Amino acid sequence: MSDLLDLPPLPAEDTGFDAAAFDRAVLAQRVRAAAGDYQASSETLEQLLRACPAAELRRRAEVLALLAHQYPRLGRLTASARCATEALGLAERLGDDTLLADALTSQSFVYGQLLMGREALACGMRALATARRAGDPVREAWALNRIGVAYASLDNPVQACASTEQALEIAARTSEAEVLFSCHNNLAYFWLRRVEDASALGETAALTEALASARRTAEQATALARRSGSPFKVAVAVSNLVNALLAGGSLDAALPLLNEFGHLSHDHGYRTLAVEADAQRAVFLRLKGEPRQAARILEALLGAVAEPPPKLRRLLIRSLYETHKACGQYREALGWLEEMVGLDRQIRRDNLVLQTEVILIRDQVEQAQARADSAVADARRERARAVHLETEQQRLREHAMALDRAAHEDVLTGLHNRRHAEFALPLLVEGARMAGQVISIATLDVDHFKKINGTHGHAVGDAVLQQLAQLLRHRLRSADLMARIGGEEFLAVLVGIAPQQAAEICERLRLAVVEHDWAAVTPGLVVRVSVGIAGGTPQQQQADELLNRADLALYAAKRAGRNRVHVD
Ligand code: GH3
Ligand code: MG
Ligand code: MG
Repeated sequence: MSDLLDLPPLPAEDTGFDAAAFDRAVLAQRVRAAAGDYQASSETLEQLLRACPAAELRRRAEVLALLAHQYPRLGRLTASARCATEALGLAERLGDDTLLADALTSQSFVYGQLLMGREALACGMRALATARRAGDPVREAWALNRIGVAYASLDNPVQACASTEQALEIAARTSEAEVLFSCHNNLAYFWLRRVEDASALGETAALTEALASARRTAEQATALARRSGSPFKVAVAVSNLVNALLAGGSLDAALPLLNEFGHLSHDHGYRTLAVEADAQRAVFLRLKGEPRQAARILEALLGAVAEPPPKLRRLLIRSLYETHKACGQYREALGWLEEMVGLDRQIRRDNLVLQTEVILIRDQVEQAQARADSAVADARRERARAVHLETEQQRLREHAMALDRAAHEDVLTGLHNRRHAEFALPLLVEGARMAGQVISIATLDVDHFKKINGTHGHAVGDAVLQQLAQLLRHRLRSADLMARIGGEEFLAVLVGIAPQQAAEICERLRLAVVEHDWAAVTPGLVVRVSVGIAGGTPQQQQADELLNRADLALYAAKRAGRNRVHVD
């Protein structure tokens, strides 16, 4: 199969695709997404993908990887999984480590979000190995960042923090703002998880450390977010910081940030974040000693949001449970707790459905790509077969032509050979008969050629034959056929020339032979020829009869003393 790889690429169809404009547009969407406008960026990327020809594997893979990266931020997890899987398949076919790392990183993130922790971790590890192989620290940091998310989804926030800190170290060296922010922000979130764990387990030392770390990393994330100019990033980072402050009891420090978070998310229409901001306000009120007001806010939120995403619903219900418990309203608290248990069951079920969907998507994409691969392989095989057939035919044609030439040509002199003469002479005679034309046949024989060979050697004999052939070609230009029909015997057929005129032409030829500088071949060499001529207007005359008569005339010339022309 390896020889197939050496074939020239399939001719590119002229699709009018402007690659440079496409690349510029993709870059613009990267910038747009980095500023937080994921919705507009992903919509434009979808359009670009539709306009991108199927043969543009690398560009398609790049856009797919970008979409896979952006979709989770719009809550579109299965769409992200589909894009990541497609990008992954293309990257593997292209053997491009950069694209491969991007696709794996996105896939890992989606799996993590769908609580498919093991798959998320496996993809993250592959992404990390690929990024390291490519010597790409930014992608290495992203891979480690996603490994952190995978650990978090495996309920291991300690390991999640460790991986993210590693990611942060590498990201800090690259000063790549996007990954740097993501690392700080995730780290804050993971420390908040550790705050919850520590307080649930009553580990005071761990809790103190977790609280301090959560606050510190959330502050760093907030500072980075403010520098990025993305209101979305600021909202997310501030939300973590508010949680850290509320968990640490720093209510006064939390309040202005809480207000900021509320304004940002409401003003920019971040609906989920807006509900989270209101829920945080309820927590703030509960901690401030106003649990009833907190409960009213939470219940209003739960009723107001038509179809709150399950995670958001859980946040509200849990908050309601804690708030009622804080009020000493244990019956209500129990009701919300039961509601939360039911919701957890539903979330698990929903997640299973999503997980199955993602696995199906993966199979679909892999099958589609395998089908495309085999179609390409078929086309290549077919093309290779056609190319092979074409060269084979060309080779046979050339071979046949060479054979044809060899069959009709005399190798020593380049004149036609006897075989050709036997084929052509009857046609010329018949042609002349039908046209009512005269025709002359001349046979020419070297005198005492045996002696020439004997005296000067066979090689000189050969040279004589070659130079004679040249003289013939030169002097008998009007001949329709010239052939070497024996060792030192030649034949000339002159159509439209009567025997007498042919005799004159041959006489000039004979004199040319006499006058030729044979001594230049070898000193003392003398060459003479005898010619016999027969012809006329062919009636019933057969070619071999004419040839016979020419031969007889040649014998007559020999008998008469050689070095002469004799007409039949
Ligand atoms: P004549 O004047 O009666 O024609 O005498 P001749 O010696 O020319 O006649 P003959 O037919 O007896 O001899 C022809 C010689 O030509 C015999 C052969 O050795 C020689 N011969 C045939 N083919 C070649 C060739 O290709 N090269 C050379 N050097 N000699 C050849
Ligand atoms: Mg001879
Ligand atoms: Mg002879």
